[in-house]
Amino acid sequence: MASTGLRTTESTALAPSGDQPTIEPWGRIGGRGVERFGEDLERLSAEPTLCRGLGRSYGDSSLPAGPIAINTTLANRILAWDPQTGVLRAEAGLSLYTMNRMLLPHGWFSPVSPGTQFVTLGGMVASDVHGKNHHVAGCFGHHVRALRMRVADGRLLEVTQTQHADLFWATVGGMGWTGAILEVEVQMTPVPSPWIEQHTEQVGDLESLVARLKEVSRTWPMTMSWIDCLKRGKHMGRGIVYYGRWAQPDLAPKTFPKWNAEVAVPIDAPSWALNPLTMGLFNFGVYRSHIPRHKHGIVTPETFYYPLDRVLDWNRAYGKSGFTQYQCVIPDAAGMGAVVRFMEALTQTGAASFLCVMKDCGPEGQGLLSFPTKGTSIAVDIPVKSGTAEVVATLNKLVIGVGGRVYLTKDRFTTADDFAAMEPRLDAFREARAKWDPQLRFASAQSVRLLGDSPSGAA
Ligand SMILES: Cc1cc2nc3c(=O)[nH]c(=O)nc-3n(C[C@H](O)[C@H](O)[C@H](O)COP(=O)(O)OP(=O)(O)OC[C@H]3O[C@@H](n4cnc5c(N)ncnc54)[C@H](O)[C@@H]3O)c2cc1C
Repeated sequence: MASTGLRTTESTALAPSGDQPTIEPWGRIGGRGVERFGEDLERLSAEPTLCRGLGRSYGDSSLPAGPIAINTTLANRILAWDPQTGVLRAEAGLSLYTMNRMLLPHGWFSPVSPGTQFVTLGGMVASDVHGKNHHVAGCFGHHVRALRMRVADGRLLEVTQTQHADLFWATVGGMGWTGAILEVEVQMTPVPSPWIEQHTEQVGDLESLVARLKEVSRTWPMTMSWIDCLKRGKHMGRGIVYYGRWAQPDLAPKTFPKWNAEVAVPIDAPSWALNPLTMGLFNFGVYRSHIPRHKHGIVTPETFYYPLDRVLDWNRAYGKSGFTQYQCVIPDAAGMGAVVRFMEALTQTGAASFLCVMKDCGPEGQGLLSFPTKGTSIAVDIPVKSGTAEVVATLNKLVIGVGGRVYLTKDRFTTADDFAAMEPRLDAFREARAKWDPQLRFASAQSVRLLGDSPSGAA
């Protein structure tokens, strides 16, 4: 754990000419600002500005509107842990990686986990992250019992689902725009063993795949699917459906699973490395590796939850021009036809790469800007090129037309008009934000783009 006392550094060493971008988002495009590090978030947040955790949001969510962001990762102490109830209270910079290593050996796991463990508690709340169990567990914020926050007028507040409830639900999924989260108290989930019972099924076309995903979600707590989004014609949307649950002790090995040894991508991939041929071959390989059609086994949680974490800095595989991830949810009410139209539009753009994931989402949560709603979430990596903004605009038009929305923590190219058109809760969010931060002091490059905030970070 971190010791007490403030050690503040501004990483200007990384900004040789003073105006070079030093904070890069995960998608590696449009970096800006410098980070201020410290172990004492209370003092570090004395002057309100955007917080940033491990920078795993893909677009500009973690880039400050002004020159400086507070990096929370040195504030990572566990403040309270009750092994009887599973209630954890920790500083906002604690990573899920550390939580897993500390608590899984004692039979506890995060109630909701995204597809990487290199995220902080603060980032999990601010994005209201969802996992493979959204259809049964909702988002992370649903399991949060309390937050300790610094709000714009300088006060330090205990914020819960009943105390300052409007601030709580604006902060859950509120992308850091309502204040600094200093501490998080969350109800962890008990698990019967540290192993996962995993099933995978190869499915040959989109409609069968979505139907199978929804079918397994009725009985399995963790589900998702990978799609070969380069395939067109009758095999468009072919892919693999994954489902699983924590293994019961009689099925699980008696030993504790080995943690991954991560390897790093040493250099940026050259621009020619990702092309339709290499991506098509990759997808073909993944699809064909799932023969026999139905496989099952006992796997480690890292294999099941975090396959991409094996390779540190895998974002370098997209080369220096970076990438964005387009993630939207198509409401069930729009019908299967809407999912088919979306996939057709996506394949026609020719923009998609090999990572395309579909999840079954449960009902909308209470976070005012929280992403999931009852429907199908589709996430696809798009290498950035000159026409990427147009591709996103095309997909957004379709998504708006069927009452869907995009996930802010992945977004980089949505326009303010499109965001307003897809977000009926925006007025309620603006109202809560205006109450708690009338001068809009907590702002990001994303809030400048989507909400019209001042680029300097102050109204
Ligand atoms: C490989 C990969 C897989 C992923 N899979 C999923 C997934 O399955 N489901 C999902 O929901 N997400 C997923 N994500 C996205 C990721 O979970 C979120 O972007 C998460 O917020 C990242 O946490 P972070 O600590 O890196 O936050 P950052 O990226 O540093 O910041 C994200 C946002 O949180 C705000 N923030 C961070 N800390 C604080 C704080 N203390 N107070 C106030 N605001 C704060 C920032 O201002 C910013 O708006 C994935 C990302 C990657 C790279």
